Amino acid sequence: MTDLHRLSIREISEGLAAAKFSSRELTEHYLKRIAKIDPQVRSYVTVTNEVALAQADAADALRQAGQATALTGIPVAHKDIFCTQGIKTSAGSKMLDNFISPYDATVVAQGKNAGLVTLGKVNMDEFAMGSTSESSFYGATKNPWALDHVPGGSSGGSAAVVAADLAPFATGTDTGGSIRQPASFCGLTGLKPTYGRVSRYGIIAYASSLDQAGPMARSAEDCAYLMNVMAGHDAKDSTSMDKAVEDYVANLNATTLKGLRIGIPKQYFNVAGLDAAVKARVEESLKKLEELGAVLVEIDLNMTESYVPTYYLIAPAEASSNLSRYDGVRYGYRAENPQDILDLYKRSRSEGFGAEVQRRILIGTYALSAGYYDAYYVKAQKVRCLIQQDFLKAFEQVDVIAAPTAPTTAYKIGASLDPVEMYLGDIYTIAVNLAGLPAISAPVGFDQDHLPVGLQLIGNYWSESQLLSVVHQYQQATDWHTQRAAIAEENA
Ligand code: GLN
Repeated sequence: MTDLHRLSIREISEGLAAAKFSSRELTEHYLKRIAKIDPQVRSYVTVTNEVALAQADAADALRQAGQATALTGIPVAHKDIFCTQGIKTSAGSKMLDNFISPYDATVVAQGKNAGLVTLGKVNMDEFAMGSTSESSFYGATKNPWALDHVPGGSSGGSAAVVAADLAPFATGTDTGGSIRQPASFCGLTGLKPTYGRVSRYGIIAYASSLDQAGPMARSAEDCAYLMNVMAGHDAKDSTSMDKAVEDYVANLNATTLKGLRIGIPKQYFNVAGLDAAVKARVEESLKKLEELGAVLVEIDLNMTESYVPTYYLIAPAEASSNLSRYDGVRYGYRAENPQDILDLYKRSRSEGFGAEVQRRILIGTYALSAGYYDAYYVKAQKVRCLIQQDFLKAFEQVDVIAAPTAPTTAYKIGASLDPVEMYLGDIYTIAVNLAGLPAISAPVGFDQDHLPVGLQLIGNYWSESQLLSVVHQYQQATDWHTQRAAIAEENA
């Protein structure tokens, strides 16, 4: 078969089960595509050819033995923030360019247990800080819809590999939008689960109270398959929740759109900088949901103006603390010929970290310093509480909340947004992380340059199933998620 890369996860699963093709054939097919197309997209940091083929053979053997499950033998790409035993895990940083992880992140281990085949590790903004994937030590990844645009970030590589048909699905992480915004920029579906639903063990930490991993794929259905593997309690992560995991695939039709109350926050649609085409596509998608039975309810989210300042205190504060471990002594980059220990620390960190990471360490260290802790960090935590309460109040009135995923479509590569401009682009995604809520982004059309637009749906705690189900039903009635990026079409 020549079009294996066009199949959905369900179709792949059925094809493997019916022995229409083997995992080795499927894996070789993807590896060939990566070799051919990725030099243009630049999404993989590491392609694990040998590991992938060995895992594919093992999956085929399991199948022969009658021990295969739904995902046995299906390839996946991991964001290079998940530790992978024996494989470089860089977090997009020079600091970890030489780091071979001695262990697997729980998400990776769960993938292996389910029989997934690791194609490789994909590019990202350095330490997941950014919205374009340009801050990676390995250079910018290109948007498969238009190679002179960014795929979004920080999980830009994860989005690009799926959009270019270089992996059927991928893992991502979302601290302030890094699954949803790249999904939106690349015409994909991406789910950020409730904080605590997916283990953070073995994920290189950015901001621990905000970080959460989730699936990125073409459709809600494909995401549901990966979510079934990723979700669950992990004794190795004390913030992971000991709560039964739902079968996200089986529940895809469990929520009915009839009477579903969708909240439309007034404040969100009056944000300066909300692109007209984005607004139009999102409104059209809401209209469609209304046709399908949903009820649109105008709501207030009064804390909207506080999102960006609150997030950009808390995230850098936690980052500055998390990143203090990279000292040039224990592992990672070490400066050459240090004069003394201070010189070793200073130069290792100055040479190993890029500009955006250093900026965040500075902001975070300042906000946590003795003299400013109460004025900035403690204050931000209080506002964070108010943001959470704002959402909880809204959920007394509605089932889900709708918003654009991002105020614009993908930026041009090198558009050289100044940092504050870039931070403002996170307005619709970061509050979800501050509140620990789940949210999903789904494609709902294009702007005048044929760049994808995303609709975001925010749910109450533990409503992943409901979000996937709502998007699944929207996708049964529309075909935005089946459209292919330019480079995928050229290499169909
Ligand atoms: N763009 C946001 C930031 O730079 C979100 C990144 C993320 O979710 N990892 O912090």
